[in-house]
Amino acid sequence: MTIERIDSYHSWGGYPRSVPSQVVILGAQPELPAGGDTTMLPYGNGRSYGDVCLNNGGTLLATRRSKTLIDADWERGVVRCQAGMTIGELNSVSLPHGWLVPVTPGTQLVTLGGALANDVHGKNHHGAGSFGCHVLSFELLRSDGTRCVCSAVEHVDFFFATIGGLGLTGLVSWVELTLKRVPGPFLAVETIKYANLEVFARLNEESSDFEYTVAWIDCHSPGGRGVFQRANHVEAGTRHLPDKSLKIELPFTPPFSLVGSITTTLFNAGYFGFRRARVAAIQRLNKFLYPLDNIRCWNRIYGRRGFVQFQCVIPGPEGYATVARLLAHMRASRMGSFLTVLKHMGEKRSGGRLSFPRAGITLAVDFPYRGAPTHRLLAVLEEEVLSGAGVIYPAKDALMSSAAFEALSECHGEFKAARDSAFESDFIRRVQPGA
Ligand SMILES: Cc1cc2nc3c(=O)[nH]c(=O)nc-3n(C[C@H](O)[C@H](O)[C@H](O)COP(=O)(O)OP(=O)(O)OC[C@H]3O[C@@H](n4cnc5c(N)ncnc54)[C@H](O)[C@@H]3O)c2cc1C
Repeated sequence: MTIERIDSYHSWGGYPRSVPSQVVILGAQPELPAGGDTTMLPYGNGRSYGDVCLNNGGTLLATRRSKTLIDADWERGVVRCQAGMTIGELNSVSLPHGWLVPVTPGTQLVTLGGALANDVHGKNHHGAGSFGCHVLSFELLRSDGTRCVCSAVEHVDFFFATIGGLGLTGLVSWVELTLKRVPGPFLAVETIKYANLEVFARLNEESSDFEYTVAWIDCHSPGGRGVFQRANHVEAGTRHLPDKSLKIELPFTPPFSLVGSITTTLFNAGYFGFRRARVAAIQRLNKFLYPLDNIRCWNRIYGRRGFVQFQCVIPGPEGYATVARLLAHMRASRMGSFLTVLKHMGEKRSGGRLSFPRAGITLAVDFPYRGAPTHRLLAVLEEEVLSGAGVIYPAKDALMSSAAFEALSECHGEFKAARDSAFESDFIRRVQPGA
């Protein structure tokens, strides 16, 4: 275990700024530091956008060096890995055996511990549910010195409080999960332009046979036009497809955001306008599942003030009307987004007490952080979401209110009972001050 004082552990959005008093780098045999004066929080790969991975003035437990594949049963597709291993690292070991991490977010640069603690979802949520649905067990280290193996039959309260538990129930040292059998690293992808939200809804209904669905939406268009994608794994026969992905890096953070209302308007119009109406192609799964991973540090385009993301899910058929109103508020505020993503989420749930993923329509948008105007817009968006009985995703959040956090779950009581009082984050201090 190494202890560093460091101020470069931040979240992906770069807002809010937060400086831990120390970072404890966990090694091959992770254990909690002996009781100190400060609170602790596990830190995976910092791919959360807001403040769930931050602990201002406290200790961060950095897990990335704890990344061993402990055990693998390639017959059954069951693996046990240390929690600091990333989804990409696991995929690269499991794919040659014909197995894939069953649920992955839009980047493979997240750790298994981070994926568990946010109970992440992916483009296959409508069929596969969230990451926690595939977790068999994990080991939890608590500040009272106990280490317990948690599953749906052992330490059940800790199991369901830790899935989606935002790192507040203790440190997960390893995770055991079931992988998904796949024929290889390729997907057959269809890309279809759509004119408005009604057509998007129809495309979704027609796509129940597709394992992955997702849409990019032109947030400046009144009707919500966009580009819908659906994909399925494909059998062999396509093995010679070259990997053409080009890795580039934004070399520095400009002092101001390169994203403004003019750039997003031009980008959105161009991204929609220059596409063919319908294209079918075989793609490497990394290209489809993780399109942004080819641009390292793309978050720097938002400048030194950083950016915020807002992701919500709204249940029921009324969800569409709420999405239309959210887009109208964004247009009225003249705060556009490059990456506006729309997706239908399915019924399957992990049981995580605070887990975000649930049935409904989910919308995710990014905004450069501009101080008061950003706070005002997000407050208006939050109000719309809550009045539509929707919820906001903590992993993407920097500004939700206590009321929105309360609305996330009916199980706050069970979660509170399982929390470890030595673990805290900037997020929980913001949404539950004094708790
Ligand atoms: C480009 C991009 C695309 C994304 N797309 C999606 C998406 O499609 N769907 C989605 O759900 N999310 C998405 N995300 C968000 C991301 O998947 C989550 O925030 C994820 O949890 C980040 O994992 P991490 O390893 O970076 O963890 P961090 O961000 O470092 O930490 C996340 C949380 O996990 C806790 N934690 C980390 N390790 C442990 C551990 N060992 N034990 C206990 N708690 C732990 C932390 O305390 C914190 O609360 C995306 C993020 C990016 C940058």
